[in-house]
Amino acid sequence: MAQNLSSIDPKIYEALKMELKRQREGLEMIPSENFTSLAVMESMGSVLTNKYSEGYPAHRYYGGNQIIDIIEQTAIDRAKQLFGVPHANVQALSGSPANLAVYLTVCKPGDAIMGLNLPDGGHLTHGFKTSITGQIFRSVPYHVKPDGYIDIEEARKLAQENKPKLIWVGYTAYSREVPFKEFAEIADSVGAYLAADISHIAGLVVAGAHESPRDYAHIITTTTHKTMRGPRGALIMVTDKGLKKDPELAERINKTVFPGMQGGPHENVIAGIATSLLEASSQEFKEYGQQIVRNAKALASGLMANGMKIATDGTVNHLMLIDLTPMGKGKGAFAEYALEVAGITVNKNTVPNEQSSPFYPSGVRLGTPALTTRGMKEQEMSLIARIIADACNEVKQYSLPESKEERHAYIARFREETAKNQKLIALRSEVLELCNKFPLYPELGQ
Ligand SMILES: *Cc1c(COP(=O)(O)O)cnc(C)c1O
Repeated sequence: MAQNLSSIDPKIYEALKMELKRQREGLEMIPSENFTSLAVMESMGSVLTNKYSEGYPAHRYYGGNQIIDIIEQTAIDRAKQLFGVPHANVQALSGSPANLAVYLTVCKPGDAIMGLNLPDGGHLTHGFKTSITGQIFRSVPYHVKPDGYIDIEEARKLAQENKPKLIWVGYTAYSREVPFKEFAEIADSVGAYLAADISHIAGLVVAGAHESPRDYAHIITTTTHKTMRGPRGALIMVTDKGLKKDPELAERINKTVFPGMQGGPHENVIAGIATSLLEASSQEFKEYGQQIVRNAKALASGLMANGMKIATDGTVNHLMLIDLTPMGKGKGAFAEYALEVAGITVNKNTVPNEQSSPFYPSGVRLGTPALTTRGMKEQEMSLIARIIADACNEVKQYSLPESKEERHAYIARFREETAKNQKLIALRSEVLELCNKFPLYPELGQ
């Protein structure tokens, strides 16, 4: 790793080394995380970070952007080609500001908007009350049914009643096909814009492992760092359908991003996005995307074979929700910590029919994109399923105290006991052994 850093800033250098070790020695199963390539990191950690390039290719407010224009135009062209759309903006700094740019382009404050409720698997930026998007617009959330599938009839009814300007489709904790077609009918019937936020599944869409929204949505947003395996950033795309609804839509979105919301774009990241889009257009990436899904299916079956309940009884994408309610409500945070002690990183999550709260939910969300990047396959998934089931078993005897005052001390004691739990420590060595068989960034050395 970087030599200058080690002499100039040993503290950060050591922390970087420790983080590399942590990523190598654990199973990264947060479904929104991945391992980008060294080529992508090379683009990001480059002299491009030095340049101001407010504006767009060939229309800049600063001089010296001849080379930058090549880079940004390459990212734009690759995004358009890969997703089959006529327009792409690559400047949004991440997924949330990309979504905000969509709102600020097609809505006015106070307009009705619709998105899947966050505890049901939606994203904060789709109108949740703690997000600015749930405060400046009139948010009308739709939900999942008790079986965990999107309630399309409810969404249709809510759209008829509320006449939203914008409807979001695409989720963060939903293990089934995104119903693009159904939502296109709903949006068209009330004249709303349909924005497909494919942040989680973009890599699957590119690989042909999930249907593309391009014939259904007017606008497509995606992060570039999840299944796309690029740097942290975002794309905002306009489809042919979007241009048909509003021929100026592409231009308006560009203006919202700059000068509306941002100053200078991060061209070093845009170069990394360009590189990751090139990687994503390879045959190898198609196989990667298909393998993510095969792995997730194998993991879900393995977990169910070990007696665990999975929301919707399985998955067709890269993620799943373990529903721990049969053990008692509110066990998600306990399981998350026990898994961490065993060397597996996941996140606590609400489940369909949640009986606890978003802060103490009853499930965990986990997925296979990062493990698949490491080269793991179905065989490893069934081993991991058994380890996860064993680890979750260790939190059976803990349950969240009803009284808020007791919680703090109870959780502190739980964590202390769990950190020393011999069963979990034994699972951790199994995890380490597995990780060592699938080396991460061997080129970076020790
Ligand atoms: C991750 C995600 C976002 C936000 O991306 P950030 O880069 O974290 O701001 C938006 N929408 C969905 C569906 C996501 O999964």
